[in-house]
Amino acid sequence: MPSGFIDKARITVRSGAGGGGAVAFHREKYVAAGGPDGGDGGRGGDIVLKVDEHMSTLMDFRYKRKYVAADGMPGQTKRCSGKDGDDLVIRVPRGTVVRDTETGEIICDMAGQDSFVLCRGGRGGWGNQHFATPTRQVPHFAKAGLPGKEMDVTLELKLLADVGLVGFPNVGKSTLLSVVTRANPKIANYHFTTLSPNLGVVPLEDDLSFVLADIPGIIEGASEGAGLGHDFLRHIDRCRLLIHIVDVSGSEGRDPVEDFEAINAELSQYSPELATRPMIVAGNKVDIAPDREGMEKLKAHAEKLGLPFFEISAAAHQGTRELMYFAAQRLRELPPITVYEPTYVERPPEVDTSEDLSIERIDDTWVVDGPWLRQLMANVNFGDYESRNWFERKLREAGLYARLEEMGIQDGDAICLYNLEFEYQR
Ligand code: GDP
Ligand code: MG
Repeated sequence: MPSGFIDKARITVRSGAGGGGAVAFHREKYVAAGGPDGGDGGRGGDIVLKVDEHMSTLMDFRYKRKYVAADGMPGQTKRCSGKDGDDLVIRVPRGTVVRDTETGEIICDMAGQDSFVLCRGGRGGWGNQHFATPTRQVPHFAKAGLPGKEMDVTLELKLLADVGLVGFPNVGKSTLLSVVTRANPKIANYHFTTLSPNLGVVPLEDDLSFVLADIPGIIEGASEGAGLGHDFLRHIDRCRLLIHIVDVSGSEGRDPVEDFEAINAELSQYSPELATRPMIVAGNKVDIAPDREGMEKLKAHAEKLGLPFFEISAAAHQGTRELMYFAAQRLRELPPITVYEPTYVERPPEVDTSEDLSIERIDDTWVVDGPWLRQLMANVNFGDYESRNWFERKLREAGLYARLEEMGIQDGDAICLYNLEFEYQR
């Protein structure tokens, strides 16, 4: 992509694995055999997304594609827990929408929130201290930590702007932005100058201020073969209102109505919904128009479509203030900026539960082990009722309870699955 502006990126992330629990025994002078005192493994680090207000592109993700949080450390002797793995914080610009790459489902929209835990680290395994009871034999085992979670996600930047400026190259979009805001976009008298969107606040009194964005790339990329396609249009996805700028001066020998329709066609091709977005039409460069022909023609066309029309000269600051006030008033009647609701449904991992679990009985505790169980538990959110139910069902389907009953488990006995211990009830 030209200009180094990157607003879409695909990355893989992995949270840290939990550390293993320790098998250790208390040692003291003159005490022959101490009790078990192996500490727990530390938690794996989370993958956390954080909004960085200073970032305006996803350029950082161009060369770094893989993000891995630290694993938890193993448990220690003397009941000391292993150190938790550090979280890995990934900074993103505000307005980044995160999707599951495979399904395209929205995981989170970093528009209204400042941070989000994308993947939780694996929990640490229990050390043998947990397996000590007065009646129990000396526990020579501890539990492995749970693995971290890996995800492939796509980041897309969708700017947070109330109003988007659209139009052909060179019609004066950047000029208007620079005149009504403090933004400092590149302005030049040739096409294809703007290849990254610019944002600015239009300062108006009485809470009328709003954010205006200059959206490039509608015709630019297509005609240049730069491969931008409609990519930049995602930046107006959230805009509540569009201002369509048309050059009416005839300075480039073009027809304003044809230009206007060409852009609208691009918009509806990108998204039919976008084509119905409220729009204001602004005929620009009135200061250098040799006659009123272009202006009148465009005005009549806009009126026919029921769209408000403004005559401006961005360069001469003519009519720009009126246009901004009108836009601000219009915004009052429109719904707020879109924040995307998550659509992502966490899918339980496909685990092959046919392989037998190992069951070890220690007095009235039943310690269950097995690779698939470990895999399964790494992916269950035990804070969530549905997930717990699903987990419970899996264990039942796999025949665990039937086997335990066969082996003589009694109501009130403890079942120990890694770092989860619960009482058995028939
Ligand atoms: P953009 O590609 O739509 O962002 O257009 P720019 O804002 O970069 O403007 C392109 C050229 O048109 C620049 O040379 C501007 O100075 C000029 N321009 C923009 N608005 C006006 C205007 O109202 N009157 C005149 N005479 N020139 C303008
Ligand atoms: Mg521009």
